[in-house]
Amino acid sequence: MINNQQILRLNSSGHPIGWVNYETAARLYCLNHVIYECGSSTLKLRGGYSRLTKQRSFLNLNSIISTKNINKLDYSTFTPSLVNTTLFKRDAHRCLYCGNIFRHNELSRDHVIPLAYGGKDIWTNVVTACKRCNNHKGAKTPEAANMLLLAIPFRPSRVEYIILRGRTIMADQMEFLISYIPKSSPIFQRYTKP
Ligand SMILES: [Zn+2]
Repeated sequence: MINNQQILRLNSSGHPIGWVNYETAARLYCLNHVIYECGSSTLKLRGGYSRLTKQRSFLNLNSIISTKNINKLDYSTFTPSLVNTTLFKRDAHRCLYCGNIFRHNELSRDHVIPLAYGGKDIWTNVVTACKRCNNHKGAKTPEAANMLLLAIPFRPSRVEYIILRGRTIMADQMEFLISYIPKSSPIFQRYTKP
């Protein structure tokens, strides 16, 4: 459905900035802010009927658009906001202690080094944990609780974050985004699995 489809927005140098909905994309087209298109799919947006010709107007939105820069983009200071939805997606909805996959409402944010021990609420100190494992671990470190971590928590890069925030990513958008991610990234491995 076009209503849900997100368009990948790039800056003028071709670096991914984030997602825009079709309304914002249409506005960028109308303001002549779209410099070039580089997706292989197109979304057809229906406009109104012309009084003169009785023809309906259409606007073709490309799936990936490069746009004029409104704000300068600084990759080095990018801080992805830490929210559970994105955290659980980073860990593929897997509890990093028992290894099982759970639904969103059965998961929780675990601080590897507990806050009480000076651990911080940052990407590199938080993991997805099922409620049972989180309760079992309590306010202990994994070593003290004798619970091994199955993966090392990491802070997503800007492009990894864009992937994690995507709702329904089209194949051409994913192909474009994945080219910005190192092969060693767990996100790369997850999305390029045959
Ligand atoms: Zn668990």
